Order: sequence, then C-alpha cells, then structure tokens
Amino acid sequence: MFDIKSEAQELFPYTRDLRRDFHRHPELGFQELRTASIVARDLTDLGLEVSTGVGKTGVVATLEGAQPGPVLLVRFDMDALPIHEETGAEYASQTPGVMHACGHDGHTAIGLTVAKLLEEHKGDFGGTVKLIFQPAEEGLGGAQAMIADGVLDLPVPDKSLSLHLWNDKPLGWIGITPGPVMSASDRFTVKIIGRGGHGAAPHIAIDPVVAGAQVITALQNIASRNVDPLQSAVVTVTSMDGAEAFNVIPEAVELRGTIRTFEPEIRKIVLERFEAIVSGVSNAMGCQAEVQLQSITPAVTNDPELTEQVFKVASEIYPQAEISTDERTMGSEDMAFMMDDIPGCYFFVGSADHERGLDAGHHHPKFDFNEDALVTGAVLMASVVIDLLN
Ligand SMILES: [Zn+2]
Ligand SMILES: [Zn+2]
Repeated sequence: MFDIKSEAQELFPYTRDLRRDFHRHPELGFQELRTASIVARDLTDLGLEVSTGVGKTGVVATLEGAQPGPVLLVRFDMDALPIHEETGAEYASQTPGVMHACGHDGHTAIGLTVAKLLEEHKGDFGGTVKLIFQPAEEGLGGAQAMIADGVLDLPVPDKSLSLHLWNDKPLGWIGITPGPVMSASDRFTVKIIGRGGHGAAPHIAIDPVVAGAQVITALQNIASRNVDPLQSAVVTVTSMDGAEAFNVIPEAVELRGTIRTFEPEIRKIVLERFEAIVSGVSNAMGCQAEVQLQSITPAVTNDPELTEQVFKVASEIYPQAEISTDERTMGSEDMAFMMDDIPGCYFFVGSADHERGLDAGHHHPKFDFNEDALVTGAVLMASVVIDLLN
C-alpha cells in the first residue's frame, strides 16, 4: 500500500512555495487572474483537462481514474481580502490593502498538491475527480458564478468535499462534524420612517431614532425568547444611520445587520419574528417600517454518511490527532450552494501555532498559520478521495 503521508511530505517544498507565492500576490474576489493562471499552468502540466474562466476567474480540472465510477467534486477557494497585512512575514503581501487573511492561499496550494497526489495514484481508483478552484468566496458570489457556468453539470458530481484551514484550533486538530457546520446567513436592511423636525420640538415630529433604538433592543428577544435554548441563532444589528445634524430629528433611519442560523425551521422562526418585531415596535412608536431581507448563503450541512467515512479515513491516517465531531461556527461559506445540490463533507484542519505566535484569527491583519497544516490538508483530502473512489 502506498504512503500518501510521506508523498505529501516530499511535496511540501512545492506546496509551501506555492502558498508563499500566492500570499505575496493576493487577489480580491473575481480578480484572481494571476492565481488562476498558476493553477491552470500546474494542472495542465499534470496532463489534466483544464477549463479556465469558469465563474469569471475560476478553474476546473477533471482527473479520470483507471475505470469509470462515481464523480467527486473537490473544491478549493482562491480569493484574498481587502485587509492591510501586518504580519511582517518574509512572504507578506506585496499589494497594499489586500491580504490572504483567511488562508485561501493555503487552500489553493493544498488543491494543487492534491492534484499531484491523485494524478500519481489514478491507477488506484475508479471514477472522476472534478477539481474546482473557486474565486470570490468572501461574500462576492463565486460559488453561484461557477454554478451558473455549469460547474455542477456534466459530469454531474455524486458527492462533494471541501476544507478550511482553521486557526481557532492548533495544528494536529481536525474537525469533521456531521449535520450543520456553518450557518445560513441572511442580510437585512430596515428603514424606519417617522417625521423629521427640530431637535428641540420632538412633540411635533415622529422620532425614528428613538423607534430604531427600541427596535434594536426588542430584536434581542428573538435569540433569547423565541429560539429553543438548545438551538443557535444570531441577530446582530451592525449599523444605524440617519441624518447628521445634532439638532435635527431625521425623517428616517436605516438599520443594517446579519442573521445567522443552522436549521431551516429556526431560520423561519427568526425571520418571522424579525419582521413582526420591526413592524410592531415601529408602528407602536408611530413610525412605518420597510424590511428588506436577503439570503446570502444557506447553511453548510454535512451529509452524515459521507462525514462518517471522512472521519474513518482521518482517524486511520492520523490516529494521534484530536478529531472533533462537534465543531460548528456561525460563520458562513458559499460552498453551501454546491452542497445544497451535491451531498458533501466540509471539514476543518487545525492550523494555529501558539508557540510561534501564528494564532491570530481569520480575517485579522496578523493572520498566519503553521504551514505543516498544508500537508495535513493535502493528505486528508487525497486520502478521502482515493478511499471514496476505491
Ligand atoms: Zn474568510
Ligand atoms: Zn475562508
């Protein structure tokens, strides 16, 4: 039997150099032209069939095993964030204001390493692997753009896999959770309309600022009073804007924020209560409310059977690892759109290193991780693919 762990270890200089190159040259969502060209170059060098420009800047490669069989979709994301890097690392971003602060540079490097490992072992499995390098994961709609360009069409994937380096946990930790693992995300904009007037004469105005304050307070009741205490929900108001002058009661204020839930039934309850509270409280204060709700992503929900299989593979390869089966986050991920159609497993690979100070959180200007996690990620992903197609 071959030894993926030592093969991935041998490839480590390749993986690390790629990651550092992507890290020096980060590109925002839908602008990943340089990254995509390197991805396409290395996949083409492996002799794979490669399509570029899928979902604007995405890349897709297909890899055929020895015999026909199921189709597996394996997805990695490539985009950086509008953050100015403060790590001081030798390989720090050379583009001011843009940084790989979520680890997608690592994901892209892992993906190319997985392609090499699988190409090496294509005689050991049957079926097709669709390797997907996705643009614009950070809230810009990269997954939907790739789906619109037919990434879930021929060959239609039977199952999907994805991973995230996870700096909330140390290297050596792995998170493989069945069921909901990242939350559904809804965005809201609420306009509360009163009647403007002089700040010194509130009795002849209808003050939307006071109504907005009451609405914000009342919304806190949803998570605490309407949602089953054993379930999870977040309702966060992140801004309230009105007029600027200190002595003017504005005509209207606008509230914005985000709603996070795991279960569709809980999401339904939260959205219903949200609308009822906003309009009820606004009306009680003499104001009118206009509510706009926009679904950003569904929840990432892992297929229990597939997740069990991923767990089995991980615990065989890394018997010493701490493997958690209940890690969940209220963060969201657009891989959810692909997993809505294709049963999937999305797992986490611990990447923090407290001793070396590589433990800042995702999206932090000092974010960096222990690069040994790149090997763990590549080993796990390649091994799971081979196991599933064996
Ligand atoms: Zn992120
Ligand atoms: Zn991310």
